[in-house]
Amino acid sequence: MQFEDLGLHDALLHSVRAQGFTAPTPIQERAIPHVLQGRDLLGLAQTGSGKTAAFALPSLQAMLEPSGRGRRRDPRVLVLAPTRELVSQVAETFRTHGKDLGVRTTVIFGGVGQRPQVDALRKGTDVVVATPGRLLDLLGQGLIRLDAVGLLILDEADRMLDMGFIRPIRKIVSHLPAERQSLMFSATMPDSIRALADELLSDPAEVAVQPKAKTAPKIEQALYHVGQESKVDLLQQLLSDPDVERAIVFTRTKRGADRLAQKLGRTSIEAAVIHGNKSQNARTRALEAFRRGRTRVLVATDVAARGIDVEQVSHVVNFDLPNEPESYVHRIGRTGRAGATGVALSFCDPSERGYLKDIEKLTHRSIPVRRDHPFASVEDARTELPPKPGGQRPGPSRGGPSRRSARSSVPGRRTAPSRSRAGRVR
Ligand code: AMP
Repeated sequence: MQFEDLGLHDALLHSVRAQGFTAPTPIQERAIPHVLQGRDLLGLAQTGSGKTAAFALPSLQAMLEPSGRGRRRDPRVLVLAPTRELVSQVAETFRTHGKDLGVRTTVIFGGVGQRPQVDALRKGTDVVVATPGRLLDLLGQGLIRLDAVGLLILDEADRMLDMGFIRPIRKIVSHLPAERQSLMFSATMPDSIRALADELLSDPAEVAVQPKAKTAPKIEQALYHVGQESKVDLLQQLLSDPDVERAIVFTRTKRGADRLAQKLGRTSIEAAVIHGNKSQNARTRALEAFRRGRTRVLVATDVAARGIDVEQVSHVVNFDLPNEPESYVHRIGRTGRAGATGVALSFCDPSERGYLKDIEKLTHRSIPVRRDHPFASVEDARTELPPKPGGQRPGPSRGGPSRRSARSSVPGRRTAPSRSRAGRVR
């Protein structure tokens, strides 16, 4: 299928071509026609699938219709997203594709002064992309009107619920016209999301591009059993591999992120850091340095990293395993984006075995274990022997190091995983 087959306006076709997109991604192919027909939509899609353009392009097309509502230039499209980074990226997509249509997009999020945001609203805007907290705050102060919104989009709805945004979302929705089109995108489809969809959507079309909680394709995964005390040394060794072009390293805590970046700095590996205690400016600077390749390594916590859209992240390293197994799927989705192959390496110290079990249960697969490194923990050697009852035993016989990767301790990107192994790397 081609973009031309989707019924998009010429100006939008021009801008997707200018972005170098040759064909729509599966979520775009399936979602765009429904949205253009004015239907509500429930989309199951991960970050990296092209879902932002899947809702931004038809939303922008709707802007070409004359507005029936609103006296002034009040927002006609409202996008809610969980984090400031995601808000910025969604807004960027609207701006990129809406440039030639004269569409104005305004971002609203907390952690920075509200003045510039309020000024932008006063000048008039067509699209508002917002985190729920600050938007509700502005609504409470009477600084924004939402009665001209004809299209509501909830992006990463599962994450918004995880972050406790359900009440703000309900309150915001109560300010919108009852007659509107609503779209909801989520990376997972737990019952809570179904319930929210029942509440907010009317006879929605449903499109899914990933089976529930399966990790994205084309990501080569590996697990290193390593004691906490040796993690920095192992990381340093892995990062010294030239195949690691651009890496995001995840820690569980903000303090852990700061400490790790300092330790790496002492070994002359410069790393940028983002987490929730950093100011918005510091986060933007860190992301910019990483995006432009000034720093090769970004150390991040889960919430801060959510929605980061940086091309060509060659490696994701789970320095700590996440305590929520879904975060593993989100984390490794940072690499291997839009068709590129990526590598996800996870460190597991003996105290993190429970987290590993949860992850493997959710993704229905064992992560291949790498043992050809000098920091293998004793625990690993001990637990290696008995096969897992009724399950796959992680080890060389079931997806362990390939002949190629046995030579290097980092599964590389120069050679794509062979077919037989790639089959297990889902
Ligand atoms: P998203 O899932 O919206 O975060 O998008 C992930 C990445 O895919 C972004 O960097 C987009 O620029 C890129 N992208 C979106 N649509 C396409 C497409 N049709 N072809 C190639 N890349 C795309």
